[in-house]
Amino acid sequence: MSKSLQAIRGMNDILPQQTPAWRYLETTLATLLDSYGYLEIRLPILEFTDLFARGIGEGTDVVDKEMYTFLDRNNESLTLRPEGTAGCVRAVLEHGLTGGGQVQKLWYAGPMFRYEKPQKGRYRQFHQIGVEVFNLPGPDIDAELITLTWRLWKQLGLADAVTLQLNSLGSSEARGVYRDALVAYLRERFDQLDEDSQRRLTTNPLRILDSKNAQTQALLADAPTLHDYLDEESRAHFEGLKARLDAVGIKYEINPKLVRGLDYYGRTVFEWVTDKLGSQGTVCAGGRYDGLITQFGGKPTPGVGFAMGVERLVLLLETLQCVPAELSRPADAFICAFGEAAELAALALAEDIRNQVPGLRLLVNAGGGSFKSQFKKADKSGALYALILGEDELAKRVVGCKPLRDDSEQQSIAWSDLADHLASCTQQA
Ligand code: ATP
Ligand code: MG
Repeated sequence: MSKSLQAIRGMNDILPQQTPAWRYLETTLATLLDSYGYLEIRLPILEFTDLFARGIGEGTDVVDKEMYTFLDRNNESLTLRPEGTAGCVRAVLEHGLTGGGQVQKLWYAGPMFRYEKPQKGRYRQFHQIGVEVFNLPGPDIDAELITLTWRLWKQLGLADAVTLQLNSLGSSEARGVYRDALVAYLRERFDQLDEDSQRRLTTNPLRILDSKNAQTQALLADAPTLHDYLDEESRAHFEGLKARLDAVGIKYEINPKLVRGLDYYGRTVFEWVTDKLGSQGTVCAGGRYDGLITQFGGKPTPGVGFAMGVERLVLLLETLQCVPAELSRPADAFICAFGEAAELAALALAEDIRNQVPGLRLLVNAGGGSFKSQFKKADKSGALYALILGEDELAKRVVGCKPLRDDSEQQSIAWSDLADHLASCTQQA
């Protein structure tokens, strides 16, 4: 195939074979979020570049190296959104949704774009489902967010495959003091740090805690830990969160090295991690960002949220074979019609059955063809039944109902009984 007909590296087509797993995840989560009282918000994919520069921050990998930024025809610098929080905050401020302390519990879903090195579980266009809550400062809502993700894992059959990691980043003052202590410790060992961490020592030192380099990790073993620097209020917030998770029965691991590396994050941070996908193991990550909205010029507004990586979750569902098989079943019944009159009748009959059995997957032959060729198509469609409508059947107002997946006999069924018959034998009743 010519090069011009290839998708961009790291940007995937999601083929029909894969979409049932995607829809399963999306609809399960949408139903669950409804049941917890979260409202959906739909946001643009493009925003002014400045939004992300201010919201995510210079000195982060996302802003410094990963954004798709370009000038539009009016010479405005625009960026394909690399994440959803900044756009969501922009929207709630623009529409006054958080004014007067109004609580907002919102969710969104859609594609995000980052110029990363594509590999399993890491793409340049990927999808997130995110949740953001505004104007609730306490640990109760942090616990609710974690609880609803935990319920999702249970509903999807993934509960045994993921673990919860938890940390508190404290207040920004406490983190500042800690940052100085960490920088002082690492400066003395500067030569032993990997190159990325050397750079981060000035740009974003907390991110060093997250380094994948083994030697750097060894150095960090004796470094000061954030936990010893927590302020009293953050400590109480963290205890409040843990007490709630204990009350529901959610297990967690405290990971003092879990950081989000952005200044506006504080207090709670968490990640759901799996060991079933290799190194791209984080399937959901979130935290509290009480400082973000003031950074955008809004009044101080508590915020907390998370985002899950849809591709990684779909991979996990597929790896563990957790997608219910019936979701990929292509069809229940396939109508074969022979001759103009039968074709017209088949069309009307199909509409009538669709009215009566809404969940039924009913295909009608298109493109004519002999008995043999239509029957072949019916078989290939994966349908459980071929419904045959020729001149004889038309005269008697019946169809021949031929089971395709077992050896049982073909039956003749009156049009008036067909909907009930199909409903009962495909469990759509
Ligand atoms: P990572 O450490 O894996 O790069 P991150 O901290 O950059 O993740 P977030 O910005 O917190 O990721 O995004 C939330 C979730 O979105 C991640 O936990 C992951 O599941 C998913 N995600 C992030 N980047 C990608 C990507 N390039 N491809 C696929 N999924 C991604
Ligand atoms: Mg990343």
